[in-house]
Amino acid sequence: MKNFDVIVIGGGHAGVEAASASSRMGAKTVLITMKIETIGEMSCNPAIGGLGKGHLVREIDALDGIMARAIDVSGIQFRMLNRSRGPAVHGPRSQADRKLYKKAISNILKANQNLTILEGTVKDFTIHNNIIKNVILDNNLSIKAKSVVLTTGTFLGGVIHIGNERIFAGRIGEGPSNLLSKKIRELNFPIGRLKTGTPPRLLKKSINWNKVDMQLADKDPIPFSYMTEKIFVQQIQCGITRTNINTHRIIFDNINLSPVYSGSIQGSGPRYCPSIEDKVRRFSDKDSHQIFLEPEGLHSSLVYPNGISTSLPREIQNEFIKTIPGLEAAIIKQHGYAIEYDYMDPRALKDTLETKKIKGLFFAGQINGTTGYEEAAAQGLIAGINASINLNTNPKWFTLDRSEAYIGVMIDDLINKGAPEPYRMFTSRAEFRLLLRSDNADQRLTDKGLKFGIISSKRQKFWEAKSKKLKNSYKIIDNLSAKPSLLKKYDLPSTRTGNPRSPKDILSSGKHHIKDLFEIWPDLKNIPTELHSQIETDCIYNVYLKRQKEDIKMYKYENKTKIPINFDFNLIKGLSNEIKDILKQKRPSTVAQASSLPGFTPTATLLLIRHLKREKKYKVVNEY
Ligand code: FAD
Repeated sequence: MKNFDVIVIGGGHAGVEAASASSRMGAKTVLITMKIETIGEMSCNPAIGGLGKGHLVREIDALDGIMARAIDVSGIQFRMLNRSRGPAVHGPRSQADRKLYKKAISNILKANQNLTILEGTVKDFTIHNNIIKNVILDNNLSIKAKSVVLTTGTFLGGVIHIGNERIFAGRIGEGPSNLLSKKIRELNFPIGRLKTGTPPRLLKKSINWNKVDMQLADKDPIPFSYMTEKIFVQQIQCGITRTNINTHRIIFDNINLSPVYSGSIQGSGPRYCPSIEDKVRRFSDKDSHQIFLEPEGLHSSLVYPNGISTSLPREIQNEFIKTIPGLEAAIIKQHGYAIEYDYMDPRALKDTLETKKIKGLFFAGQINGTTGYEEAAAQGLIAGINASINLNTNPKWFTLDRSEAYIGVMIDDLINKGAPEPYRMFTSRAEFRLLLRSDNADQRLTDKGLKFGIISSKRQKFWEAKSKKLKNSYKIIDNLSAKPSLLKKYDLPSTRTGNPRSPKDILSSGKHHIKDLFEIWPDLKNIPTELHSQIETDCIYNVYLKRQKEDIKMYKYENKTKIPINFDFNLIKGLSNEIKDILKQKRPSTVAQASSLPGFTPTATLLLIRHLKREKKYKVVNEY
């Protein structure tokens, strides 16, 4: 029998972050995965980031995770999404070269001295007195460890559907993990079925690129990692085309052949990433849907048509593809498919991602009901950190709450509300999003990471130097102000009160840059140029943050307050009838309980707290 401190099962996005985190913290770690060559594989779209997801990647990076560094050396079309809106909801995204991404992940893992990578399939666990003891591979090798992180993605009981074809698989070309699925069911974990899907892959040279619009990458790609100075990877263009009424007619006429509609698939699919069958049916008033034609790599012969995930029979896929402009002669190299798999209701987990039932057993990634690489990676990071902390006699757990990070929002949602449908991150899920920006994840998290020993010495030096420069810059800024007469001379705005204004006041409008203020305040030239954008953004949001910080204090403190028995929920102004019904039905006794009810929104929590406070009808359970 072999001995390790931490075993990570699965080399997907959750697994690699978990293994990297625990080994970074000094735990002797083994990553066991079915195929070494698929470590860091992108099962579906070749892209990292996006709205809300980009925030997760920055937070992973701020805690020294690996996803951001890997995409920075493999991203082939960097774009900052939502640029027309405020920086709080900007979404960094990049398309990836699949091969380069996998190579980058492998290179980072290989550099880790405490990490062993083992090819194999785990088929069983041994548990004694509700404590995990060891895992058993299909060749009967037994490996012992104090902590085990399970990150098996879509592989447990995986079944692929294409029309009425059923293939038992974890994803295309790879077998499912059925013995482990059986074991987890035997352990009486709450298991359900979910589904997700992927579009067909097209031969690049069979597309008529002259008939589609082209989308460029950003001129100055902004890296994901705080440690990356510049993106050197060649940037490419994507094509954009659309479905039309002919496409929709074919899909609609054959909808009953789709396994979701024929009843072959029972599991819920991702509402926000629907298949083309779902889109045609749910949005029947629309006669066109956008498709992004995304090359799978710099030298790949394949294109990923983002927007037409489908599980219709192969011949119907062949037929509807040809109705789309630019795809009239397109050759499908791999047909789209849906996959149904086991997931565990994440309400069976603690906020450390350890199971409530079995000590030392952690779950992370798609197995917890999420969808997406970033959501998986973020959970892997937290599970890996805590798997390592679990080795200590008096563990001090690493957790993040909703006011600290999007990662905290996701874990809080999962463990309290479960995942009745595949969970993906959006900025709207975070009630404190003005604070939780993608630009300031290092300011929010890296110091906390340092306290827990999660941060490597390289990043520590990097962060401490940046943090010192930021502090010095604010010292300069805080010493400066100008009276209205001087502001007028430089054509800068003053207030009606006639009070002096500081650079922070001027920058808060978002209309000026630091360099615009060099003439009036030459000392600002001493602020390093690379910090200008960060400071300008901080100044815009500081105004709102004062109010949000109060809300955060209230959230932390009053989320532990009691609701009186027989409380009349109808009295709460602004709550929807739907939410009032939920409250009347479930009758939560604390605000914490109320906010964890399915369907209960963060705004509803704040309304409830405000009402209770106004009416003084609450009792503090314990001081925060
Ligand atoms: P995975 O990346 O699935 O990794 C699981 C790993 O576990 C694999 O390395 C596997 O070899 C290993 N493994 C499994 N069982 C065992 C075992 N018994 N022993 C050892 N190793 C084992 N996400 C989106 O955001 N948008 C989409 O449109 C989208 N579509 C998808 C379509 C399909 C068909 C699939 C399969 C996934 C899709 N996803 C999509 C989800 C995305 O791929 C996952 O969210 C992400 O890969 C989950 O990461 P993970 O680490 O949890 O699992």
